[in-house]
Amino acid sequence: MPELPEVETIARGLRPLLVGRTITGVSILGPHLIPKRGKNFEEQMIGKRILDVYRRGKILIVELDNMNRLAFHLRMTGRLGLMPSGEKPGQHVHLLLALDDQTSLFFQDQRKFGTCALFAAGELEAWPFYAGLGPEPLAMDKEEFAARLKGKRGRIKGLLLDQRFIAGIGNIYADESLFRAGIHPALAADRLTPGQIGKLHAAVQDVLTEAIAAGGSSIRDYRTAAGLAGAFQETFQVYGCKSLPCHRCKGIVQTTRVAGRTSSFCPRCQPRP
Ligand SMILES: [Zn+2]
Repeated sequence: MPELPEVETIARGLRPLLVGRTITGVSILGPHLIPKRGKNFEEQMIGKRILDVYRRGKILIVELDNMNRLAFHLRMTGRLGLMPSGEKPGQHVHLLLALDDQTSLFFQDQRKFGTCALFAAGELEAWPFYAGLGPEPLAMDKEEFAARLKGKRGRIKGLLLDQRFIAGIGNIYADESLFRAGIHPALAADRLTPGQIGKLHAAVQDVLTEAIAAGGSSIRDYRTAAGLAGAFQETFQVYGCKSLPCHRCKGIVQTTRVAGRTSSFCPRCQPRP
């Protein structure tokens, strides 16, 4: 599932190709998108100019004229990219937006969990999911992170995955950050010492920054806007490394369930609380 670094990579790849373009045609090929597309979707989209492409949490946003915004949630297998207009779209392409330079933006999604919705001015901020998103981890300093942790119940891993606590982190980057900080995923959030909070804050920022620089992590379907695989999966320390020796201590990486999710950790580097 694309997390912050993957969606950021897609946004950065699409931005120079989309900004300044005008939408000249709309084809909805996936009927499951219809209830989420807004009223008169085609009518509203045609003629609109693309002003910006950016990310908030795991949501990719295409900003159009008059503060209209098209928001994509890629979920499990969603993918966005450009193809020459007139070419036959690939399998599982559910939406095509033709542009004025003979290219088309496609939204492909094998598992169909991804969504796409058009928001008029002010509507995106009024969407409860969007309004409830926590801060961006790369824009949050250590003091804010510590303040947000104060009095929080539950396991630290569950909290990192909670999009209302912090936006954009999923299973991969939660596990890799906790490993770097030497913190067990099941540690109660309110038991983190100030030293551990500082280490975790730094680990989250470092892991996300390195993953963006690597073009994200490609485990199954994720591809950049140019159709390339990311490279960060090659540096995973614990995620997907069950039963393999830890690079740091040669202990064996294990998995446990925390907050309903499989969590990979090294029992020596991340001692059980
Ligand atoms: Zn270890």
